[in-house]
Amino acid sequence: MKAAVIGAGLAGSEAALQLAKYGIDVDLYEMRPVKTTGAHKTDNPAEFVCSNSLGSLDMTNASGLLKKEIQMFGSFLIKEALNVSVPAGNALAIDREAFSLNVKKLLEENEKINFVREEVTKIPENIPVIIASGPLTSEALAENIKEFAGEEHLHFFDAIAPIVEKDSINFDIAFYASRYDKGEACYINCPMNKEQYENFYNILVNAPRIELKEFEKNAKFFESCLPVEVLASRGVDTLRYGPMKPVGLIDKRTGEKNYAVVQLRQDNLSATMYNLVGFQTNLKWGAQKELVHSIPGLENANILRYGVMHRNTFINSPKLLTPALQCKKRENLFFAGQITGTEGYTESIATGMLAGINMARYLKGEALLELSGVTMLGALTRYISSMEHKNFQPVNSNWGIVDELIADKKVKKNKKLKTEMLSNRSVNWLMENIRV
Ligand SMILES: Cc1cc2nc3c(=O)[nH]c(=O)nc-3n(C[C@H](O)[C@H](O)[C@H](O)COP(=O)(O)OP(=O)(O)OC[C@H]3O[C@@H](n4cnc5c(N)ncnc54)[C@H](O)[C@@H]3O)c2cc1C
Repeated sequence: MKAAVIGAGLAGSEAALQLAKYGIDVDLYEMRPVKTTGAHKTDNPAEFVCSNSLGSLDMTNASGLLKKEIQMFGSFLIKEALNVSVPAGNALAIDREAFSLNVKKLLEENEKINFVREEVTKIPENIPVIIASGPLTSEALAENIKEFAGEEHLHFFDAIAPIVEKDSINFDIAFYASRYDKGEACYINCPMNKEQYENFYNILVNAPRIELKEFEKNAKFFESCLPVEVLASRGVDTLRYGPMKPVGLIDKRTGEKNYAVVQLRQDNLSATMYNLVGFQTNLKWGAQKELVHSIPGLENANILRYGVMHRNTFINSPKLLTPALQCKKRENLFFAGQITGTEGYTESIATGMLAGINMARYLKGEALLELSGVTMLGALTRYISSMEHKNFQPVNSNWGIVDELIADKKVKKNKKLKTEMLSNRSVNWLMENIRV
C-alpha cells in the first residue's frame, strides 16, 4: 500500500511518519531547495518560519490541551519538540534548527519513506494523496487545487517578527524575568518609561511599510497574529495592553514599575538568538532597524533576521472536507495543516497526524477516526468542516469551539475550574474511546 504526501512541513512530515508507522509506503514531496516559499530560510523539513513557540503546555489552556491530545496519539513531531525545547515558562518553545534536523533524520532513516525533493504542480491522480503544502503552497499547485475545487482560494496575511543576537543586548537596561515570576525567569525584558514609549510609538506609526501588491490589498490579517504596526494604528495604548503590557514584569535590581515592556524569547538551544515577542511586522527593513534600536536595551542590537509578511492561502474546507480531513469529492485525497484553515504550528502537526492516521485507515479499509467535539482536535476539524459559516476564516485551538460543559453556573464562572474540567473531559474521552 502506498500514498503520496505533498509538502514536508509540519503537517506533511507528521503525516508521512504516521503513514509509515501504519505500514504504508510514502512518497513525500518537498519543493525546497528546488523552489523556495519566501518565508522558509532552510532546505530542512518541518521548519518553523516565525516564532519558535508552539504555545502553552498548560492543560488549562486550549493549545496545551491540543498538545496533550496529540501526545496521547503518539505524535512524532511533538515528541521531537519536547526533546529540543528551550526555556519559555509554561510554553513549549524550541531550537528550530535542532528540531528540523531531528525530523529530517527521522524521515530519511525511515525505510517506508521516500523523500523526494521536487515541486508537485498537479494533484497526482494515480495514487492516494495527502496535500500538506501549507499557507505558501506554490503557485502552480495552488492553481490546480483551485481548478479541482472549482472556486477561489481564501487568504489572509501572516507576518514574522525580527530576531536579534543576545550578545548585542544591553543588560545594564534589559533584565531577565517571567511575568509574575511564574516558572524560570527566561524572557529578556526591555523596559520603557512614558517618554521612551511615546518616542517608540511615533517612530512606529510613521514608519514606511512594504507596499502590498494590487491583488493583495483586500486580504485580511489573522486577528491573533496582527503586525505590530497594525496594532499600533488602533490607538496609542493598544500595544501597552497587548504584547508590550508591563504588568508582572519588574526589574529586581531597581524594583521600578514600567510603562511598557518589550519581551524577547529565546530562539535557539545555545541561547544566542532572541525573537521580539509580538513584533511580527511588514515595515521596511531600514524602518525596522530604527524601531528596534529605539527600544531601551536594544540600541545596538544586531538584527539577525528581519520581519516579513506573507500571503497565506487556505481552502474552503466547509465545502471540501469532512471532519476526518477527507475530501468530499475524492475519497483517496486528504488535506492537512494550515491549508485546511486551521491556524498555528500545533494545529498543523495535529491535523497532519489525523490525516496520516485516517489515510492509513482508509487504505486498510478501516473506519476513519472522527473525534468527539469534547476533544480540541475533534472540535477543530468539526469547525473547519461545518457548513454553518457565512464567512469561513482560519481558526486556532480555543475553548469556544468545544462542546459546552454541562455543569452548574458556579462552576462555569470559575474559569480555571471550568478549563480543568474541559481538559479532563477530553483526556477521559480519548482514554475510553481511542486505542493508541
Ligand atoms: C509568514 C508566516 C508566519 C507564521 N508564524 C506563525 C507563528 O509564529 N506561530 C504559529 O503557530 N504559526 C505561524 N504560522 C502559521 C503556521 O502554523 C505555519 O505556517 C506552519 O508551518 C504551517 O504548517 P504546514 O505544515 O501546514 O505548512 P508548512 O510548514 O509551510 O509546510 C508546507 C511545505 O510544503 C512545501 N510545498 C509548498 N508547495 C509545494 C509543492 N507544490 N510541492 C512540494 N512541496 C511544496 C513547502 O516548501 C513547505 O515545506 C505562520 C505562517 C506564515 C506563512
